[in-house]
Amino acid sequence: MELAQQIIKGNRTALGQGITLLESTLPEHEKQAQDLITACLPHSGKSIRIGVTGVPGVGKSTFIEAFGKLLTSQGKKVAVLAIDPTSERTHGSILGDKSRMHELAADENAFIRPSPSSGTLGGVANKTRESIILCEAAGFEIILIETVGVGQSETSASNLVDFFLLLMLAGAGDELQGIKRGIMELADALIITKSDGDNLQKSKNAALEYKSALHLFPPMENGWTPQVSTCSALENIGVFEIFETINKFDTQMISSGWKMKNRKDQNTYWLHHIIKGQIGTKKYQELVSKEDILKLELLLHKGETISQIIDKI
Ligand code: GDP
Repeated sequence: MELAQQIIKGNRTALGQGITLLESTLPEHEKQAQDLITACLPHSGKSIRIGVTGVPGVGKSTFIEAFGKLLTSQGKKVAVLAIDPTSERTHGSILGDKSRMHELAADENAFIRPSPSSGTLGGVANKTRESIILCEAAGFEIILIETVGVGQSETSASNLVDFFLLLMLAGAGDELQGIKRGIMELADALIITKSDGDNLQKSKNAALEYKSALHLFPPMENGWTPQVSTCSALENIGVFEIFETINKFDTQMISSGWKMKNRKDQNTYWLHHIIKGQIGTKKYQELVSKEDILKLELLLHKGETISQIIDKI
């Protein structure tokens, strides 16, 4: 498949076309999209997938721009994708317009893609899941998934990523920020943004408060202690340290085997989620009760794509 070849060569235009194909709702594109994923899948997987969430205005795009530029300056290839099921209603509330990250967008080692603009949250997140496969096949080593931290999208995002960053403002109060405890529990690192100027001391205090609050949370299954830090994306302070934390996490999780286990579990989650969505809860329950679902999981772990597996049901 010519498009797959071009993507695997790292051609960004082809990557963009590939994602457009995945997002297409035209029936004639469905088979092509499946073939594309099948061709890219063996070349995928070798990246660090990072979720970035926080309420609108917390500084996500400013942070991603500073963080992304730091990585590209080190020769890394960075892709930025988004999950925002509300983007159609709000005309692209996140990443709708690339000018939010204009320097990164112009960087030849970066690839920025807005959220698919329609569909259910699960559907949008699933397109993002498939887009990650294409980005990895194109050689992107760091994949950033941006979500707005106001609803359920961060739960979906956490099922797509290895490391989850929660951006917070100092002094705004958890309630005001719409940050639920459940979201904090998902975070591998919590960052107090805009830690500069008059806000500096307030951010440091907030970091201390969150550090002690996190102590009360149950320990994470993977043995990681969530980190709390302050950062000014505008002044480029604390950005490099966040990358160091993520690298440390990645090394630790690779050597403990947790990274692979977690990705396998995430794939299984999506298999169940997508099957349920396609055949309905009742039929899905039958698959589970007859244990046929286990056979399907086996196919997944042998490297078949979810679409190929669904065709067999
Ligand atoms: P998003 O909606 O979460 O993507 O937030 P933005 O990145 O668009 O930032 C919202 C506003 O906060 C903008 O006016 C930014 O200039 C400002 N901002 C973002 N990061 C910083 C920072 O590190 N320091 C300061 N002082 N302002 C920031």
